[in-house]
Order: sequence, then C-alpha cells, then structure tokens
Amino acid sequence: MLTINNLHARVEEKEILKGLNLEVKPGEIHAIMGPNGSGKSTLASVLAGREAYEVTDGSVNYLGEDLLELSPEERAQKGIFLAFQYPVEIPGVSTTNFLKTAINEIRKARGEEALDAVNFLKLMKEKMKLVNIDDTLLKRALNEGFSGGEKKRNEVFQMAMLEPKLAILDETDSGLDIDALRIVAEGVNKLRSKDNAIIVVTHYQRLLDYIVPDFVHVLYKGKIVKSGTKELALELEEKGYDWIKAEVTA
Ligand code: ADP
Ligand code: MG
Ligand code: MG
Repeated sequence: MLTINNLHARVEEKEILKGLNLEVKPGEIHAIMGPNGSGKSTLASVLAGREAYEVTDGSVNYLGEDLLELSPEERAQKGIFLAFQYPVEIPGVSTTNFLKTAINEIRKARGEEALDAVNFLKLMKEKMKLVNIDDTLLKRALNEGFSGGEKKRNEVFQMAMLEPKLAILDETDSGLDIDALRIVAEGVNKLRSKDNAIIVVTHYQRLLDYIVPDFVHVLYKGKIVKSGTKELALELEEKGYDWIKAEVTA
C-alpha cells in the first residue's frame, strides 16, 4: 500500500527527514513514536502533501503511484486521511454539511454519482451508530466550542464517513485526557479492516494499550532507527528514549 524509500524532506531550509524508510501493507496498524522534534508530524504532513514541506530526495509509492506527484486533494480522493494535529473550526458550517460536500467531492473525483439526501442520511445513520456519536454534535458548527473529547469523536466520525484506505492519525502533543484517548482508540479499532491501513503517530504509550499496533517504529532525528512489535512500546514506556539514542550514536 505504502512504500517510503530514503525520504528526505525539509521545512524552511532545515532538513527534518533524513532518509526515512517505511513499508505499510493493507490491514496493518503502524505506530510511530519518538522524542519531541524528531520529525513525526513532518512525516504526516509530507504524506498529506502540505505545502510548506519540501521533499528533497527519496520516493513514496502509494497503491502503485508516485504519491509525491499528487496534489493534497488528489491524495484525499485516493483515500488518504490525515487527522488530529490541527483540528479546523469552520464557523457556521455543520459537520453534516461539511461531510456532504467532502464525500461528494471524493465520489466525483472517482467518477461516482453524488449521494442524494436519502442515501447520505442512511450512511450518516450507519456510521453514527458505529462510532457512537449523536446528531446534536453533528448539527453544531464544525469544532466550534467542542470539548477535546467531542473533537475527537467528531474526527473519528469523519474518518468513518470518508472510509480512508490509509489513515494517518497524528496526536497532538498535549491535552489528551484518558476519555479522549479511549474515543480515538475505540474508533480506530472499529474502523480497522483487512483492506485499510492506519499509521498512528503518538508519544503516548497509553494509546497503544487500547489500539494494538502490528508494528511500532521509533523515529529519531529524521529516520526510523528501530522497529518492533507492541513490546517495543512497552519498553519505551519503561526506559524512555535514551537507550535508543545511545544505540544510534554508538
Ligand atoms: P515531532 O512531531 O516528532 O515532535 P516535528 O515534525 O513537529 O516533530 O518537528 C521536527 C522539527 O521540524 C522540529 O525541530 C520543528 O521545530 C521543525 N519544524 C516542523 N514544522 C516546522 C515549520 N512549519 N517551520 C519550521 N520548522 C518546523
Ligand atoms: Mg512535537
Ligand atoms: Mg508532532
């Protein structure tokens, strides 16, 4: 599904990713951990195609295509979904209207017919049940005055509606309480299937108590320096990152 080879990228003339390799297959959940400033959010932004991020070397293949040649909109249309790092607020636009537009843009790009009101509502109902959200939240303006937990639930719902092939969840560095973690984890667990893949960027080992990843990678100084199973996350929780830094410099 996704093959990243020797990826180098910079932001504002500063090289952040320095030869990153990663392979993600359908059905897999990958957790990316690492000390603050190691480049985790940069990786997520590069995959989503954010403008400020310039790729200087390496390749990213997504479903047989050169991902780096695609615009951010094309990436979204082809099933890439980036969540959580910068929750947008759209005053006056409800989640429902926002999603109706987003879904029909994606369908149009795929050459499919727009969903009519009845079928859109049917899909809404099905996904609302799945992620346990109620429609009062969906009628309110997107993220306006939402609590942390409500924002999370709303984003999980957006993910459920858009049915991404590759979801990249980049956790914010602070302020996630245990309830919000649970909401994210429950959503992810319900949405995982053999056909889609999920990359979870987090430095909370706690999140991985609820979402069990197939692989855990440590990103340090712009490279993946260690990969393992969920046991690696437990080891990091216990011992921190210093032993990994020592291994890298040895
Ligand atoms: P992480 O998510 O692992 O904490 P980031 O990818 O956010 O790390 O940041 C990696 C490095 O890139 C940091 O030194 C950060 O200051 C820098 N950086 C990230 N985004 C920008 C930006 N938009 N402008 C300037 N520097 C940035
Ligand atoms: Mg950070
Ligand atoms: Mg980050």
